[in-house]
Amino acid sequence: MMTIFTTIQELQQALDKERENGASIGLVPTMGALHAGHLSLVSECIQKYDRCVVSVFVNPTQFNNAKDLETYPRTPENDFKLLEEAGCHYVFYPSVEELYPTPDTRQFDLGFVAETMEGAFRPGHFNGVAQVVSKLFMIVKPHGAFFGEKDFQQIAVIKKMVQLLSLPVEIHSCPIVRESNGLALSSRNQRLSPEEKEVAPTIYKTLKESTLWKSTLTPKQVIDKVVDTLSHTPHLKPEYYTIVDSSSLKPITQWSDSPLPIGCIACYCGEVRLIDNIKY
Ligand code: AMP
Repeated sequence: MMTIFTTIQELQQALDKERENGASIGLVPTMGALHAGHLSLVSECIQKYDRCVVSVFVNPTQFNNAKDLETYPRTPENDFKLLEEAGCHYVFYPSVEELYPTPDTRQFDLGFVAETMEGAFRPGHFNGVAQVVSKLFMIVKPHGAFFGEKDFQQIAVIKKMVQLLSLPVEIHSCPIVRESNGLALSSRNQRLSPEEKEVAPTIYKTLKESTLWKSTLTPKQVIDKVVDTLSHTPHLKPEYYTIVDSSSLKPITQWSDSPLPIGCIACYCGEVRLIDNIKY
């Protein structure tokens, strides 16, 4: 049986009981409009912890674009159904007032990992992510929490936030779940038109192809070729493509600069901003 809570107090009562009984607790933070990517985190959580809590909350403080917040898909009833089928134990579905009874004015000093890439193009985004995830960690007090590598930079930011606040939460990262055509699953994919849906897989197709160019081209040449290819595809408009070290997120100039280079992209498909990444 899955229980849905909308208040902090009721959720905490249930979780206090679980902890008294010795249960370990895992948390999967989401913004809802759930798909198989989210459900892969839920199934990892259930494997590793006795109880799985999933939060469904479209966090206003991490949106730097009012239209993006307004148009973000919301499908709570379907989410609850999927979560029940997946074996989730508790859903936390708070209102904005419940989570932010007063405005959150906290500014996190997250350093370089929050300033580069998404941080540069979405000012304030990661501070908002740190605000909501730190609140969720303080409310749920999970032993571990699960995040997807689709938001690769977000994982580095969360780890930094956990260090900064000395929170006793283990951070687990899970691989990207894709459509059979390679497109990374995203709640925002629901907003793509039929024509946009057809070209969106070109993003991953190009990233994947670019791993073959590593033997003959420098990182900068690979970046330029990826951006050029995508720019010439109808509906697609790359915002940035960068190849960085996967730990420091510092850009590399030679392949030997990093033991594990990763290419991170943000690309508009029509009006919809998609992100993806690939390991080299
Ligand atoms: P969101 O609801 O978009 O905030 O995502 C909630 C969590 O699910 C984040 O940790 C995401 O990284 C993760 N996630 C979203 N899409 C995918 C995907 N295609 N594969 C794996 N994890 C994902």
